[in-house]
Amino acid sequence: MSSFNGIGVSPGVVVGEVHRIRHTVVDHEVPGTPRQVLDALEAVAADLERRAIAADIEVAREVLQAQAMIAQDPALVEAIGARLTDDITYPDVRPAIRDAFSGFRAALESLGGYFAERVHDLDEIADRTIAELSGEKSGPVILSAPSVIVADDLTPADTAALDMRYCLALVVAKGGPTSHTAIVARGLGIPAVVGCNDAEQLESGDVVMVDGRHGLVERNPDEATVLHHKTREDALRARAAAVTGPGRLSDSTPVNLLANAGSVSDAVSAANAGAEGIGLFRTELLFLSRETEPSVDEQVALYTDVFTAMAGHKVVVRTLDAGSDKPVPFLNTVPEENPALGVRGWRLTRNGTGVMRRQLQALAQAATDTHTDLWVMAPMIDTPAEAADFAAQAREFGIRHVGVMIETPAAALLADKVLAEVDFGSLGTNDLTQYVMAADRLDARLSDLTDSWHPAVLRAISLAATNATTLARPLGVCGEAAADPHLAAVLVGLGVTSLSMAPVALAEVRGFLATVDRATCIEVSQIALAASSAEEAKAMVSAVLES
Ligand code: PEP
Ligand code: MG
Repeated sequence: MSSFNGIGVSPGVVVGEVHRIRHTVVDHEVPGTPRQVLDALEAVAADLERRAIAADIEVAREVLQAQAMIAQDPALVEAIGARLTDDITYPDVRPAIRDAFSGFRAALESLGGYFAERVHDLDEIADRTIAELSGEKSGPVILSAPSVIVADDLTPADTAALDMRYCLALVVAKGGPTSHTAIVARGLGIPAVVGCNDAEQLESGDVVMVDGRHGLVERNPDEATVLHHKTREDALRARAAAVTGPGRLSDSTPVNLLANAGSVSDAVSAANAGAEGIGLFRTELLFLSRETEPSVDEQVALYTDVFTAMAGHKVVVRTLDAGSDKPVPFLNTVPEENPALGVRGWRLTRNGTGVMRRQLQALAQAATDTHTDLWVMAPMIDTPAEAADFAAQAREFGIRHVGVMIETPAAALLADKVLAEVDFGSLGTNDLTQYVMAADRLDARLSDLTDSWHPAVLRAISLAATNATTLARPLGVCGEAAADPHLAAVLVGLGVTSLSMAPVALAEVRGFLATVDRATCIEVSQIALAASSAEEAKAMVSAVLES
């Protein structure tokens, strides 16, 4: 038996035979004329379009369409034309093709985060073009029996081509929590482990157990190991299914359980998952591909759709958090050396374009039209002055519940003064963790540091929560930390009053919180604050909560 660890991105425990996918990388000279290269690129684009039409997974379809568009981009065709100028047969066209892609690559990489992860999609187009020219295209993966798919990296084309009826789990060596593989697996409810470097040791035919919740892959597992992991998983699921209704601790202390959303369909999922409202609506996700600012009327229509999907419930909307890992073309126009620390979120109001004011106007209008209990908060607030400025502007438009995200160390340290300016706060633990730990939240190599269980992060949260309690301001958590049941108990013990998470996580957190009382939450929060590391905090809290 040998164990391989990675990042668990989609829960579930399965045992099955490995089906290993290896990509063809042409490692010899590939001769060709400029015309042949362009024809190969066209063939790749047409193939991607065909796969996009055939894909029945929405996210795979979107990425394939985007890839097809890149392959047809006139700037790419021009870049190839500039490198292969003579009408002759070049002995090896691979360097020219890779070089033509390099400008696009650099542009994506400089954006960081989600976009940097898309560099793999770009590389895949180059690889496919070369394989097309050399006649070494890899055929489709045929699965004839249920299998655990293991790969170095799974491209959108790979996942779109997989017969999901036979796909037990996904294990990939590369990728992080926001990689394409993670998104697809969660969407389909298939266990998945990414960033599993040692996965390259696995070969087709190996028998493995995958625990997608705990990021574990076990080769040749014995029966006792499988039983332990399955029982634990089943118990977690059963506990989740057994509790319905609003979030409560076992002593009836209410904990508002809300959902994070970034689209109308997310809002529908939130309603279906029994969310008590939306705790974070990420408005920038509506505009990631917009070249120009949507008009106020257009925004009113979009927000109206979201509010209608959550009719009768509270909706917390965040004003545009453009920049860093979520650049919006019409807002983030200046290249930045260090975008996570740059002009992002509320800081964009420094540009004086009035975008946030128009957004506040549209939000207020849509809420009035739909009689929605609208709460609006600003992201990346650092100082009391920024909080006061936002509050004044939002109130001008008649918005009654005005809040701020507490996601920078400055805002947490000054929470007594920042929260005094507004009606509520929401801890963005994803960013708070990356800024407290000075570690990029999307860098899989730093996942030991970007862990919200770290006592340094918990102490920042504790400070904010203590001040929120003194000021009688509701303080929620809307980062990923809220979705971890044990951490949720710690957060409640620290004084947090609501938790907002991906709709899929709600049942489990609701089920777990129903088993603990307030005194236990306070006890484990103190244990976690006193720990020296994230691992120690997690282990000591688990020992109490699972006893
Ligand atoms: C956060 O930072 O925790 C948060 C909820 O916002 P985002 O992940 O969109 O930056
Ligand atoms: Mg954030």
